[in-house]
Amino acid sequence: MAAPREQLGTVEAEGSSGRQGNSGVEVVVSSDPAPPAPLCPHGPTLLFVKANQGKEETRRFYACSACRDRKDCNFFQWEDEKLSGARLAAREAHNRRCQPPLSRSQCVERYLKFIKLPLSQRKFCQRCQQLLLPDDEEKHRKHQIVGDISITQLKRPSQLLYPLENKKTNAQYLFADRSCLFLVDLLSTLGFRRVLCVGTPRLHELIRLKASGDKKSNIKSLLLDIDFRYSQFYMEDSFCHYNMFNHHFFDGKAALEVCRTFLQKDKGEGVIMVTDPPFGGLVEPLAVTFKKLIAMWKEGQSQDNSHKELPIFWIFPYFFESRICQFFPSFCMLDYQVDYDNHALYKHGKTGRKQSPVRIFTNIPPNKIILPIEEGYRFCPLCQRYVSLENQHCEHCNSCTSKDGRKWNHCFLCKKCVKPSWIHCNICSHCALPDHSCNGPKDGCFICGELDHKRSTCPNIFTSKKVNKAVRKQKQRKSNKMKMETTKGQSMNHTTVTGKKKRRERAHQYLCS
Ligand code: SAH
Ligand code: ZN
Ligand code: ZN
Ligand code: ZN
Ligand code: ZN
Repeated sequence: MAAPREQLGTVEAEGSSGRQGNSGVEVVVSSDPAPPAPLCPHGPTLLFVKANQGKEETRRFYACSACRDRKDCNFFQWEDEKLSGARLAAREAHNRRCQPPLSRSQCVERYLKFIKLPLSQRKFCQRCQQLLLPDDEEKHRKHQIVGDISITQLKRPSQLLYPLENKKTNAQYLFADRSCLFLVDLLSTLGFRRVLCVGTPRLHELIRLKASGDKKSNIKSLLLDIDFRYSQFYMEDSFCHYNMFNHHFFDGKAALEVCRTFLQKDKGEGVIMVTDPPFGGLVEPLAVTFKKLIAMWKEGQSQDNSHKELPIFWIFPYFFESRICQFFPSFCMLDYQVDYDNHALYKHGKTGRKQSPVRIFTNIPPNKIILPIEEGYRFCPLCQRYVSLENQHCEHCNSCTSKDGRKWNHCFLCKKCVKPSWIHCNICSHCALPDHSCNGPKDGCFICGELDHKRSTCPNIFTSKKVNKAVRKQKQRKSNKMKMETTKGQSMNHTTVTGKKKRRERAHQYLCS
């Protein structure tokens, strides 16, 4: 018999604001002690529940924490399913087979051999995304090989490796130099000496590059990332193969200790965590993980520092603000727009800035964070923080209210500032897009019911085939006019919404997968 929901923990859903009758898959975060979750190749799985239209909770199941597409990891098990010994053994064998072919120390050994080779023998196989030692060459004879790998290239693996753009798993979107340099400078201005990079390989390498070039800024960095390819370029103390959705270290206790030592050095002084998780991921498992990292840092604190918080930069789209602040009430969102290299939409365009929806969430007081004036930020003395030029201080709200970098307008009926494209609707009693359909459930998010985003950008999204099917069905029922409204509703990229449909779709995929 299923235990009541409260007993087992909370469910990631917009319970309070969500509308009834929607369908979606939610993650169940168990309160301890919970039975241990079965393992997939990516570590402990997460427990999910598929909320059905109108119905009470249905059967719960375990699925992969890291891969939001069954194609990438097809683990599935009903919560109450009993597996035979033979199936368990087969699963274990499968999990082992899926692990990287080389151990962490073997990778380090290879790296040390590699850097001793003369330039002419330093080769990289593009097909296998692997540094080659002379003995390997025969095996890669027919592959595309890059030669003369310089030490400079070895220091910038994110430029040598191709980004894993697979949206449902890695969603590897690399910072544009401008944003990455801004971050590195900011970290050093704020006086940090150690940076725990969780899913930020390009930031990691830039910090190290700067540290090696400049004696004054000797910042150390430790990268935690699920992309195993990076283990070829770093020693054990600067990279751990890690899953941030379940706090799993693929190399076991030794790697966990590397992380612990890093966080607790100097009694935890001078360290910050910077993370840029895949946006398609669920916020709650990430929050659980970050709380575990915070706890690890706290263990190293002396008693009188117990009120202190681990400084964090969490890089994520602005429309996740309420979700993030729900888990981390001390966080605020900075106006700084984070730009990416391998994403057409968030590059700094020739015609000026294209709006990026990605922001920095932090528990560092925003008045300490100077945003570049030359990139269009100004200081608001009333709010005591840097904001976008267009973000005007509203005297009624007593704050600079814009979230997306555009000028927002105050609505006296709603008693708050709203997006410039919205007008007050007397039927709905709130502001909305002019061509919304009044009181229609179709305007909100299919998953959580919130009005300010669609299913595709829902913080609660977890793509399962069943949900997709349900969504497809619903979409078919919608008229073409409704489809138009859906795309107009995505106002975070207003400068590009008018652009080509393809680009728009890519933006959606990027943000939403
Ligand atoms: N902007 C960052 C990269 C962010 S892209 C930079 O330029 O440094 C997201 C990163 O998170 C990728 O490096 C990806 O490999 C990593 N990632 C994706 N899923 C992960 C997971 N489950 N655990 C840990 N890292 C993950
Ligand atoms: Zn998995
Ligand atoms: Zn202000
Ligand atoms: Zn206002
Ligand atoms: Zn209004």
